[in-house]
Amino acid sequence: MSEPLERLTARVRACRICVDQPLGRPLPHEPRPVLRPSADARILLASQAPGTKVHISGMPFTDASGDRLRSWLGVSSEEFYDTEKFAIVPMGFCFPGQDAKGGDLPPRRECAPAWRAQLMALMPQIELVLTIGSYAQAWHIGTTRAASLTDTVRDWRTVWDAPAGPKVLPLPHPSWRNTGWLKKNPWFEMDLLPFLRSEIRYRIG
Ligand code: SF4
Repeated sequence: MSEPLERLTARVRACRICVDQPLGRPLPHEPRPVLRPSADARILLASQAPGTKVHISGMPFTDASGDRLRSWLGVSSEEFYDTEKFAIVPMGFCFPGQDAKGGDLPPRRECAPAWRAQLMALMPQIELVLTIGSYAQAWHIGTTRAASLTDTVRDWRTVWDAPAGPKVLPLPHPSWRNTGWLKKNPWFEMDLLPFLRSEIRYRIG
């Protein structure tokens, strides 16, 4: 990792914004930012926020979502956790807690405004951004995204063809909660995933 990126990552790991200056309710536990920025990787996984298992492990995607994501990408765990191949920078770095029904809350809204642009500026080598879920799509695709996540993902070729910046592909979250979505949208596995896997393999060897 480059020295400036290392310094910034150290500041993120010490961050307490959501406890000391929260927008609304404070984080219900001590912050534990989980991210793997990289000054070498050509691919960025712009994910959502840690869940309970990742909050405990301190490593992104050490859960069933991670298993599904690795299978979508066609990579081994070893490749996935190689920071020369993948940077992993979610939209919220700390586990946000759960709602009354036991679902994970959305990424903390303090996080991306505080850190994301600075981190992206120190990873200029990123060629491909995989935006996982609507929060990452809102930040990285912005106005070119469609009205719904389904339409944005279905329209992935338009997102891919956008002229400026790194290439972007929109993905749904690989959570078990989206198993029904995957069944309803078979084009995702038939059409988008083969393209995704070939772009990944091209970039990681
Ligand atoms: S979620 Fe982000 S902004 Fe909030 S405490 Fe964690 S690192 Fe800081």
